[in-house]
Amino acid sequence: MAERKIIFLDKDGTLIPDIPYNVDPTLIHLYPGVRAALPLLQKAGYEFIIVTNQSGVAKGYFKEEKLQEVRDKMEKLFAHAGVPLLDFFYCPHGNNLPGQKGCGCRKPSAGMLRRAALKYELELQDCWMIGDILNDVEAGNRASCKTIFLDRGNESFNDVGYNEYRIPHLYATHFMDLAHSLIYYDKKTKKHEKHTVDTIV
Ligand SMILES: [Mg+2]
Ligand SMILES: [Zn+2]
Repeated sequence: MAERKIIFLDKDGTLIPDIPYNVDPTLIHLYPGVRAALPLLQKAGYEFIIVTNQSGVAKGYFKEEKLQEVRDKMEKLFAHAGVPLLDFFYCPHGNNLPGQKGCGCRKPSAGMLRRAALKYELELQDCWMIGDILNDVEAGNRASCKTIFLDRGNESFNDVGYNEYRIPHLYATHFMDLAHSLIYYDKKTKKHEKHTVDTIV
């Protein structure tokens, strides 16, 4: 059986407009382009997993159970697009205080992706991570996924120091662009892997 290929998706600012700490399902809607792009990516062989930082739990802004309603709404929105949402991982922990050991799952750490890899027996280098800030890119690269920075103007570029994990494989400003770029990238790298050489006979 062919192995599963996953596209890990950040939620807020990537799939839906970012309303800070929102857990009201009625305020959750997909960005333009997402609904049309998801079936293309599914056709290209991918399944979808959301990986989201939810520090509102640790901060006491909402109860962890509320995230089930958020997940249900995301599943519904994916179903409207005609694709299943395979899974939904969240980090309920807070920002790490200086000198404290991190939880390991809050992005830019790669814990949620590694957990998914164990659960679904994934080869992470065949998976993608997509997000609207460089912490998403870093989490993806730390897990050795391919990465896309979806620039919606949400990255400040100055909160964390530079490191090589913050360089994405692809850059996009619109979800549909991202889907086409990802598919072209896969086609190109597949061709290279086969070491095919065009010859004229
Ligand atoms: Mg985001
Ligand atoms: Zn965590």
